[in-house]
Amino acid sequence: MARIDHAALAAGRRPDDVALVAVSKTHGPQAVAAALAAGQMAFGENRLQEAAGKFPAVLAQCPAARLHLIGGLQTNKAKEAVHLCHVIETLDRPRLADAIANAAMGFGKCPDLLVQVNIGDEPQKSGVAVAQADVFIRDMKARFGASVTGLMCIPPADTDPVPYFKRLVAMADAHGLAVRSMGMSGDFEAAIACGATHVRVGSAIFGVRG
Ligand SMILES: *Cc1c(COP(=O)(O)O)cnc(C)c1O
Repeated sequence: MARIDHAALAAGRRPDDVALVAVSKTHGPQAVAAALAAGQMAFGENRLQEAAGKFPAVLAQCPAARLHLIGGLQTNKAKEAVHLCHVIETLDRPRLADAIANAAMGFGKCPDLLVQVNIGDEPQKSGVAVAQADVFIRDMKARFGASVTGLMCIPPADTDPVPYFKRLVAMADAHGLAVRSMGMSGDFEAAIACGATHVRVGSAIFGVRG
């Protein structure tokens, strides 16, 4: 997307340093196929069931495609998630870590993992609480090693996201984590200015969800 390149250049960053995760939730396989044909390889889905219905066929046709799970993951679905996804962006609690570790052992492979931080400490949102984040991130790095590649957040709606983006970047810096997944259709340019390496954009690409 040209707007990503522009935002990167405006922030004095290289366009190549910002990856687009195209959020295809609620859109059918044809929308994914069209994006693939345009060269888009990374996709985000927030519900594992929906992804499991859509992506095995996509991956059979295009093995280079990459599926990011960006929605909350139930412990009893961890096995399926590890099997299907290349990146799980929503690691946020020890029991889920246990389930992912077990599944990874069983399959002999572990997806890349992002720790989701509840950066606004909102009761209704998933993600590890800000006060617990440092300990949790350290534990996850000790447990999963290089599979933990970064942090993900969704700032509170209807407020300036910039302070929250900056807080996530500071946390990632402190832990030496390269990936910062932040920014959606409404705020990805601000996220890029703050240091996002991955933006998760749905409606600005695929149109408004039905
Ligand atoms: C749906 C979703 C997005 C994309 O949202 P848009 O506003 O459509 O760009 C990004 N991240 C997460 C976690 C989502 O659930």
